[in-house]
Amino acid sequence: MKNLSVGIDVGGTFAKIGLVDSSGALIESLQIPTEPTKGPAHFKRRAAAIVKGWTFGSVGLGLAGGVDAKTGSLLFVPNLKGWTGFSFKKSFEKSLGVPVHVENDANAAVWGGYKVALKGRPRTVIGLTLGTGVGGGLVIDGRLHRGATGSAGEIGHLTLELGGPLCHCGRRGCLEAYAGTYGILRAAKAHMRRVPSPLTPKAVAEAALAGDAGALKVWDEVGTRLGQALSSLILVLNPDAVLLLGGVARAGRLVLDPVRRVFAAQPFREPFRKVVLSAPAERDWGVVGAALLSRERRG
Ligand SMILES: [Zn+2]
Repeated sequence: MKNLSVGIDVGGTFAKIGLVDSSGALIESLQIPTEPTKGPAHFKRRAAAIVKGWTFGSVGLGLAGGVDAKTGSLLFVPNLKGWTGFSFKKSFEKSLGVPVHVENDANAAVWGGYKVALKGRPRTVIGLTLGTGVGGGLVIDGRLHRGATGSAGEIGHLTLELGGPLCHCGRRGCLEAYAGTYGILRAAKAHMRRVPSPLTPKAVAEAALAGDAGALKVWDEVGTRLGQALSSLILVLNPDAVLLLGGVARAGRLVLDPVRRVFAAQPFREPFRKVVLSAPAERDWGVVGAALLSRERRG
């Protein structure tokens, strides 16, 4: 079926591969280890072998890092060392014989959430992917905003505190250093009397729901930092909606209540009164979004 597309979301450890229909529903999906040290050509061969049994009209790839939209190669990658410069677009197109679109993974996930969870209706949306890292994507006037060099939307690296905690990007005080998994676990160690074992954001959320004062403080801090970063962006972009994706968004009101509190305290009321805060149920948004973007590109 030519109206199906393949989405491939390549993370540093695992890659998710799915067959997606025009509504964004997953028809097939599976996960393989990325094996980054074996290089991009090895990965391409394995991924191509998997999808060869499917029928589809285009392929979308979401890659963690800066992507050159024209050549579909990686410009900068923190987790896939040695993968820069490889033309994913040309190489996959040659193997599979269909158009291939390459996108930053957070942009792809935000596009998936925008098209499916928000039905593509709002015109302007700020999207965040909350996981180990904090990724971002911007939809402006119904289109994914890539910027001059394809690196727009790095919301996770907005500086919230000069000299704050160290971020994985090497700078200090970024949103990610507070709201990324490692930021949440650092705060849990600082605030909780009895640190859960194993220590995960889910365990910290469970402790908070059970009334643990330290855990409640952790989520208050995470939500407040998210609210601060989003407030600045809302003043700039005046969006219809904010889309929160990824595992951490599952903490629900623990993280959303402090965000709403920060919004309610803003002196410029109008843009905050109208904005919709959406945290849809978890799905492989990166796979869905990459596949849907590849459809748009093929026209
Ligand atoms: Zn950073």
